[in-house]
Amino acid sequence: RCCDASGCRSAGSQALRTALEGARDAAGLDPSQLTIKPVGCLRQCGSGPLVACDRPGRTRLFGGLSPGQAGALIADALAAGGEEETVPATTADALAAHRIDLDGPFFALQRPVVLEGCGQVNPESIDDAIAFGTYAQLQRVLQELSPEQVRDEVRRSGLRGRGGAGYPTGLKWDTVALQPPGPRYVVCNADEGDPGAFMDRSVLESDPHRLIEGMAIAAYAVGAERGFVYVRAEYPLAIERLRLALQQARSRHLLGNHIHGTTFNLRLEVRVGAGAYVCGEETALLLSIQGQRGMPQPRPPFPAQSGLWGAPTLINNVETFTAVPAILREGGDWYAAMGTEHSKGTKVFALSGAVVNTGLVEVPMGTPLRTVVEVIGGGVPDGSPIKAVQTGGPSGGCIPAERLDTPVDYESLLELGSMMGSGGMVVMGSSTSMPEVARHFMGFSVNESCGKCIPCRAGTVQLAQLLDRFVERRANPEDMDRLDALCQMVKVTSLCGLGQSAPNPVLSTLRWFRHEYEAACRQPAD
Ligand code: SF4
Repeated sequence: RCCDASGCRSAGSQALRTALEGARDAAGLDPSQLTIKPVGCLRQCGSGPLVACDRPGRTRLFGGLSPGQAGALIADALAAGGEEETVPATTADALAAHRIDLDGPFFALQRPVVLEGCGQVNPESIDDAIAFGTYAQLQRVLQELSPEQVRDEVRRSGLRGRGGAGYPTGLKWDTVALQPPGPRYVVCNADEGDPGAFMDRSVLESDPHRLIEGMAIAAYAVGAERGFVYVRAEYPLAIERLRLALQQARSRHLLGNHIHGTTFNLRLEVRVGAGAYVCGEETALLLSIQGQRGMPQPRPPFPAQSGLWGAPTLINNVETFTAVPAILREGGDWYAAMGTEHSKGTKVFALSGAVVNTGLVEVPMGTPLRTVVEVIGGGVPDGSPIKAVQTGGPSGGCIPAERLDTPVDYESLLELGSMMGSGGMVVMGSSTSMPEVARHFMGFSVNESCGKCIPCRAGTVQLAQLLDRFVERRANPEDMDRLDALCQMVKVTSLCGLGQSAPNPVLSTLRWFRHEYEAACRQPAD
C-alpha cells in the first residue's frame, strides 16, 4: 500500500510508486503476484512517503523512502515466510532506517473509527471500498430501519458536530426531520480552512465513499433527496476523488433514484468554494452554494429550519458524516462507550508543529493532551520541553505546558480559553514568542473578515496594530488594558463565529503568558 494522498505526494510518493512498479516488472512479477496499491493517508504524514508491505500475518511500514529503495522494498515484500530472518541482510540493512514501528505509541494508542478506511482502501476504486464494507450500512439502513430508528441510533451515540461547535448531531437531525413537509437538503461542510487543520482533506482524499455513505444515511434519516458537498478550492485532489467517487456511486445505483431498489432517492453534487475562509460558517456557506456572496447571516432562523432556498437543511462536517457508518454498524452504545460523559466517541486531530510525529491522530475523547503531543507525537524533536499547544486554529487558543494533563474534550478545552475547533493541533517549543503567535492568528482574521460587521472588520485591524506594538517591543503598559478591552468588545459584539472567536488566541496567551506581553512593554523611563 503506497500512500497517494497530498502529504506523501509532496514528498515524492508518485515517483516512488512508479519505481516500485518498475522493480516488480524487473523481478518478473505481474500485479496478480504482487499488488502495488495506491491508498490514502497512512497517518504518519511527516515521515512520508509511506509504504506499507502486507504479507499474511504481518505488515511492515516504511517511511522517508526514495525511488532508489524500490528494489529493497520489493525484496522485503517477497521475503519467504514473512519472518525477519528470511529477509536478505542487504535488504534489511537498506530498509532498517526507514522502518516505522507499528506497535509504537503513534499507532498503538490510536483508535481509528473515522480513519478506519484511510490507508486501507484505494480511494479511486469503488470495488475496493465495497470490499472493505463501505455502503453495507446504507443498504442495511434502507432495508431494515426507519428514519426514526436511524436518528435514534445517532442520538444514542452522543455524537457531536466535529466542525468545532460540538452541537449534538442527533438533535440537529431531529430538528431537520421534524420540520413541516417539503423539500430538505443535506450539506457537508468540507471548507476546512483553519491553519494547521488537514483532517477533512485527508478523509476526502483517502476514503470518499465512506463520506458519501454517511451523507446518504443522514439524508434518509431527515428526508432529504438532494445534497451538496462544499469543498474548498485549495483541495484539488480531494475534489477530483470526490467527484470520481460520486460518479462511481451513481453508476452502481448507490446514488440517484430508487437506491437499493427502495423508494429512497438522493442526488449529491460537489460545490467548490472560491477561497473565502468565512464560507466555512454555515450561513455563508449556504449563500455560496446558492451562487451568492458568502456572508454570515443573523440566526435564527437556523439552517435546520430555513437553509438552502428557505428549506430545512442539515449541515455537518466531513468527520461527523464519516463517523456515521461505523456508529450504525457497531451501535450507538458502542460509540458512546468511548470518550467522556459529555464528549463521546473519538476525535481526529491534525498534529503538527514542533513535534516528532506529524500526522493524523484519532483518539478517544478525553485522552490527556500530554498523551497526544508527548507520547503519540513524541514531543519536541530536540528533546526540549513543550511550551504550549495551540488548538482550534484562529478561533482557539494556546494551552500552556503545565496544563498538558487536561483531557481533550469540548468542555475542558473551553475552560482553558481554547476550543476543540475542527481538530488542528500545533505544538510549540520554547523559542516560540506568544505575542507573535497571537499576531499571526490576528493577521489571519483580518484577512478573512468578510467586512459585514464593524466590530470584526475594524476591531481585528486595531487588535493587529496593537499586537504589532508588543511584537516590536514598543508597547506601553496601558496597551495591555486596551488589548484586553478591545478583545472583549470584538468577542461580544461580532455577528458570526469568526469575529466572536478572533480574540481567543490573544486572550489565551494573555492569560497564560502575560509575562511575555509585560516584558514587551517599554517602561516610562525607557
Ligand atoms: Fe463578517 Fe467578521 Fe462580522 Fe463574521 S464577524 S459577519 S466574518 S465581519
